[in-house]
Amino acid sequence: MPPSAIGRTYSPGMTIDLVIRDVRILDGEGGAAVEGDVGVASDRIVSVGPSGSAGQGRTEIDGAGRVLAPGLVDVHSHDDGALLRHPDMAFKLAQGVTTVVIGNCGFSAAPAEIGGESTRSFLGVDSTWTDLDGFAAAVDQAAPAVNAVALVGHNSVRSLVMGDDLNEPDAAQLDAMKAHVRTAMAQGACGFSSGLIYHPGRSATTAEVAALAAEAAPFGGIYATHMRNEGDHLLEAVDEALLVSRTAGVPLQISHHKAAGEANWGKIVRSLARVHDAVDAGQDVTLDVYPYVAGSGPMWQYFDAENPDPDYSKVIRIAKCPDFPGFEGRMVVDIAEDESRRRNEPLEAHDIIRQILAGPGARNVISIQFIIDEADIETNLRDPLVMVGSDGIADLSGQPHPRLFGTFPRVLGHYVRDRGVLPLAEAVRRMTSMSADRFGLVDRGRIVEGGYADLVLFDPETVIDTATFDDPKQEPSGIGLVVVNGAVALEQGTHSGVGSGRLLRYRQG
Ligand SMILES: [Zn+2]
Repeated sequence: MPPSAIGRTYSPGMTIDLVIRDVRILDGEGGAAVEGDVGVASDRIVSVGPSGSAGQGRTEIDGAGRVLAPGLVDVHSHDDGALLRHPDMAFKLAQGVTTVVIGNCGFSAAPAEIGGESTRSFLGVDSTWTDLDGFAAAVDQAAPAVNAVALVGHNSVRSLVMGDDLNEPDAAQLDAMKAHVRTAMAQGACGFSSGLIYHPGRSATTAEVAALAAEAAPFGGIYATHMRNEGDHLLEAVDEALLVSRTAGVPLQISHHKAAGEANWGKIVRSLARVHDAVDAGQDVTLDVYPYVAGSGPMWQYFDAENPDPDYSKVIRIAKCPDFPGFEGRMVVDIAEDESRRRNEPLEAHDIIRQILAGPGARNVISIQFIIDEADIETNLRDPLVMVGSDGIADLSGQPHPRLFGTFPRVLGHYVRDRGVLPLAEAVRRMTSMSADRFGLVDRGRIVEGGYADLVLFDPETVIDTATFDDPKQEPSGIGLVVVNGAVALEQGTHSGVGSGRLLRYRQG
C-alpha cells in the first residue's frame, strides 16, 4: 500500500518543529542510504532532502552521519496490557520501536467483559471496556509512548462466548463469536489471530477458525496464527493455516515461525518451501520471527500438570513464579539438582515442574523454553517473506525473556552487522515498510514527505542488544533518537515521557 500523501509537505515560511541533520536516510523501501536532512512539522515529515534543504527547525538534532530509519514496527507483541500498565513502553521505545501489533496468538484486549477474570489475568489490569473502541479510549487515556494496532483474538472471543466449554460451538455460539470479530474489524482491528496450541483455541476445529477468520475478509483484514503445532507436526500445521487463509479469503501471517524441539531442527526449510509454493500459486502469505533460541509463555499451557514431559522439562527456565520466586531466572534442571540436595531425595526437572504447576499461582508462571536451533533463526531472517516480531511478554516482575528488550537491536547488530545474514537496508525494510503495509499502517513505515514522523536514529556500527537471559531488563546500545508522531520520545538514552503514541485503525490515516 503506497502512502496516501494526505500529510503536509514543506513550503517556504512553514514552521519546522524538528530538523535531523546530517543523516544517512534509509527510507524503509530497502534501497541504499541517501545522505541528507529530514524536517518534521507537527506529526508529519515535511522535507526529505540534501543537507540544508530542511530550513531552520525549532529543535535541531545533529545526526552525525548515523542512520535515520522509519520507526520500527513490532509485528508480534503481547503489549495489550502493557500499553496501560507501562505506558512509557520503555522496553520497546529503547529498541527504536514506534508501533506494536497487539492481540497476537489469539489473545486480545477486546472484546472483553468489564472486570472479566480472563481479561484481568491476560492484561494485568481490570477491563473497563467491552469492545475495541472502548479499549482504544483506555489506551488514549494512558497516553503510551508508542503506537499500537490490534488483532482480535480467537481465544479471547471464544472464552467470552463459551467460557470453559471445549465442545464445538452451536450455531448461536458461532454467530456470537462471529459478531465479536466483525465488531472489532469494524472498529479498526487489522485482522483475526489464533493461538491453536493454547487453551481454549486448541479445542477448535479448522472449520471454526476459518468461519471466524472469514469475518475479517470484508474489511481486507489478515489472519495471524500461532499454529496448532510448531514441532513434530509443523508441516501439517502450515497446511492448516494455508487452508484457513484460502477458505476464509484472507492473507496469512504465520507468527514466530520456528521448528521446535531438536528432532525438528532444520524443518523450517520445508515449511518455508511450502509457504513459497503457496505464494507462487497466488496465495498471500508472510511470516515473522524473533531472533532467539528460546520461546516463552504461560507454563501451564505447555504441560500436562500431573505428568510433565521429562524431556521438555529439561529445556525449561523459569521467568516468573509467584509461588517460588527463588526459581526465577534459573533452569529447572539446576533447580532440581539443588532441591535434591536440600531435601535429600532424588528429583528430576519434571518433578519440579509438577510441583510448580500444583501451586496456587500456577497459572501466573511464565517459562522460557530452549527449543530453537540457531541456524533456523538465520534461515528465517534470510527469507524475504519474514518480518521481525519480539513476542515479548511485558511482565517485568520476574526475569523475562530478553527479547522484550533486545529483539530489534539484536537483528541490526548481531545478525546484520556481525553475522552478515542480511543487508542493513533489507533488515530495515522488513521492520518498517513491509510490516506497516501488512498491518495496514497508513503513511507509516517509510521516510517520505507527508508521512507520519515515526523515526529512529541509530549507529549501525554500535547498535546491539545488551539484554541477556541472566540480565534481561537492559536497554540496548546505539539507539540515539526515537521520534513518535513528530515528538521526541527518546534521546541519548533519556525517555522524554511525552506519550505521543496512538491506537491506530487498520488502513485508516
Ligand atoms: Zn504465540
